[in-house]
Amino acid sequence: MFVGHYSVAFAARSERNKIPLWVLFIAVQFLDYIWATLVLLGIEKLRVIKGFTAGSMLDSYFHPYSHSLVTAVIWSCVAALAYKVICSRHGSHDSKSAPSIVGLPVFSHWILDLIAHPRDLAIYDNTWKVGFGLWNYRNPEFALEIALLAIGIVLYLARNVMPAIRKGAVIAFGVALVVIQIGDTYVPRNPLTDKQTVMGVWVFYTLFVLVAFFIERIGSGRQTNIR
Ligand SMILES: [Zn+2]
Repeated sequence: MFVGHYSVAFAARSERNKIPLWVLFIAVQFLDYIWATLVLLGIEKLRVIKGFTAGSMLDSYFHPYSHSLVTAVIWSCVAALAYKVICSRHGSHDSKSAPSIVGLPVFSHWILDLIAHPRDLAIYDNTWKVGFGLWNYRNPEFALEIALLAIGIVLYLARNVMPAIRKGAVIAFGVALVVIQIGDTYVPRNPLTDKQTVMGVWVFYTLFVLVAFFIERIGSGRQTNIR
């Protein structure tokens, strides 16, 4: 699962909770940020094998700290708590439920990974591995990612007040994510090394976080002028 994760970020943001979209973009990929960092440190293990599954080259054979069910729950709580602490420090007026609205997207990552991954997600430690393996079916997996993303963006546009120019930018961002997913799923390429792969994860995910940050600023000056 790749761009499908962002559907949850888009869907979770509302005018009521006012959680910045960029925060939710980190939340939905929080487990992968931990994973990428641990692979870089040599603690978790990854093999990149051409044709490993139809839709992905990643053989993530040892990732008990970032991607087991038990640690996914723990990381979700850590993220929710961190958000609560940061909000109260900054005197933010976020609704009381905001921390759990950050925690649940973190956990959603594991659920969506469960659908796509082959049996490499441990329940705890490195044992009892599960995964429905939708990555073995390239077109259905791709269709699910795009459908989820589209639903998330429709919800985001419906549940948030914004100027037309930002709506356009959000849709353009969605199209860009679809193009990136097409590239990831269908364009043949030679496998990178494990370290190069997770460096790419860091770079791309952070780029998306920056886009989410700037997109919620588009047209905000104009809005205040009207008031
Ligand atoms: Zn993951």
